[in-house]
Amino acid sequence: MHTCRNCNQSFQTELALELHRDTCKKGQLFCQVCGDRFREGDATQDGWHYECPNDECDGDGLQEDLYRVEDVRTTTH
Ligand SMILES: [Zn+2]
Ligand SMILES: [Zn+2]
Repeated sequence: MHTCRNCNQSFQTELALELHRDTCKKGQLFCQVCGDRFREGDATQDGWHYECPNDECDGDGLQEDLYRVEDVRTTTH
């Protein structure tokens, strides 16, 4: 069983989870350093300083290493 870390929805296959992650409304932020997605609330305590919630990743800064998924979509189209 594969579970989406953002919304806790479960999927039978890893592929189904990958497809879901593209549309998951709770995975709003994207880290370009490790390629992971997570909730905005997981990346910031105060809504000002953002950093990747993954321990092994040192990506930080909104619009530097972290991007909103919707911003990435609009700039790549
Ligand atoms: Zn999800
Ligand atoms: Zn990261």
